[in-house]
Amino acid sequence: MNEHVSLPIPAEEATQRPNSRKVFIKTYGCQMNVYDSVRMGDALASEGYVTTEEMAEADLVLLNTCHIREKAADKVYSALGRLREMKKTRAAEGREFMIGVTGCVAQAEGEEIVRREPAVDVVIGPQTYHRLPQALKSARTGRRVVDTEYAVEDKFEHLPKPEKATTRARGVTSFLTVQEGCDKFCTFCVVPYTRGSEVSRPLAQILDEAHRLVDAGVREITLLGQNVNAWRSEGPDGREWSLGDLLYRLADVPGLARLRYTTSHPRDMDDKLIEAHRDLRSLMPYLHLPVQAGSDRILKAMNRRHTAAEYLRLIERIRTARPDIAMSGDFIVGFPGETDADFEDTLRLVEEVGYASAYSFKYSTRPGTPGAELGDQVPEDVKSERLERLQALLLKQQADFAKSCVGKVIDLLLEKPGRMPGQVIGRSPWLQSVNVDAKTSQIGDIIPVRIIGTGPNSLFAEPAERLMRA
Ligand code: SAM
Ligand code: SF4
Repeated sequence: MNEHVSLPIPAEEATQRPNSRKVFIKTYGCQMNVYDSVRMGDALASEGYVTTEEMAEADLVLLNTCHIREKAADKVYSALGRLREMKKTRAAEGREFMIGVTGCVAQAEGEEIVRREPAVDVVIGPQTYHRLPQALKSARTGRRVVDTEYAVEDKFEHLPKPEKATTRARGVTSFLTVQEGCDKFCTFCVVPYTRGSEVSRPLAQILDEAHRLVDAGVREITLLGQNVNAWRSEGPDGREWSLGDLLYRLADVPGLARLRYTTSHPRDMDDKLIEAHRDLRSLMPYLHLPVQAGSDRILKAMNRRHTAAEYLRLIERIRTARPDIAMSGDFIVGFPGETDADFEDTLRLVEEVGYASAYSFKYSTRPGTPGAELGDQVPEDVKSERLERLQALLLKQQADFAKSCVGKVIDLLLEKPGRMPGQVIGRSPWLQSVNVDAKTSQIGDIIPVRIIGTGPNSLFAEPAERLMRA
């Protein structure tokens, strides 16, 4: 999960069109927002905008927001306060400066945003961002736009396809959204309200995008969805295809070396998907499978529709199919009614699974969700104490997993220059960052390396002979 990601500037674009308007896109929240920010950049490129990493030089700032926890939403209003001041300074200089709010806060709060912050020019929800160019035109004539409808048209059909050079400049790994929305209605979660019900992109559209990415040099694609493994589409054989079928199909795309997907719900891990983990070497042995809690009582109150034992059995089946798979997860502590004993169940489950990485959060009450109506809210200091204990355990497991990699020869996808000259940063099959001595001209290559050490957030490696693989 990423917080505050600003998009890389496709350098060619910036130099090719020196007089273009510049857009700075600040991305909050999950990978789906990162993908959406890239596509908003595409939509605006057709209007002559280039993306910039420098807010100070932008003519348009978009805040692509997250509503999942209270803190994430609060950040948006404080950022808007700062942008209001920038807008005043720009107005005094006679320069255009527009402000847009997109993403889940836009969807959830719509009109409220322009009421609280009159400096905002456009508010656009996640389903209609292909209409950004028209909204900006309208705002320039003095008509501010709040567009949070669920569009009848398919936004993906209306988004312009980026130029090959632009895609190439974005790097050798890419996200590809295949599914949006959620019908699961976990009682703590706003996603079903902000992103709407589950919708899958059609197979042909996904294959077309995957081919374009690979043609531009992308080696690894991560399929995205709020419930990515609920993806369904009619296959060429007339059968309903599931995510497993899609992965088998994508594994046949020449040049596409690595596949990942996130985020999955345990209820939607079907046999075909588990078989894909068994059969496909390009499907990386890493799975983010949130459980949220280890107590059946709390799982029921959360409406997760699985028990702790069912989750553990599922992991056993996945590990039988792909023994080297590393598990990742999400946890919430302090859901209403969670007792010390319930929390101990969560710690026990974590001990039993052994996670290679994980995200954990204090429960945050979200207005409009069933969880907000529940009594027996857990005091803040208890939540903090539980989160600290859980995170200590998860961090230890992550460090243990990293240490277990030392001495192994693994395939490394070289992604970007490292901080030191002569160093390149790559990704292990288990999504760890790995530093290795290599040439930047090798970026995009997958090379065998031996892991020789661990750092706080990354591993160190040296080039190795392929034959010595562990
Ligand atoms: N669809 C995914 C799933 O079911 O696992 C996750 C979607 S959500 C964007 C990412 C994570 O945020 C969730 O897995 C959960 O751990 C956390 N989350 C969601 N609502 C929350 C809340 N009200 N308070 C704290 N954490 C929350
Ligand atoms: Fe939210 Fe649950 Fe849907 Fe995940 S499955 S997006 S946690 S409602």
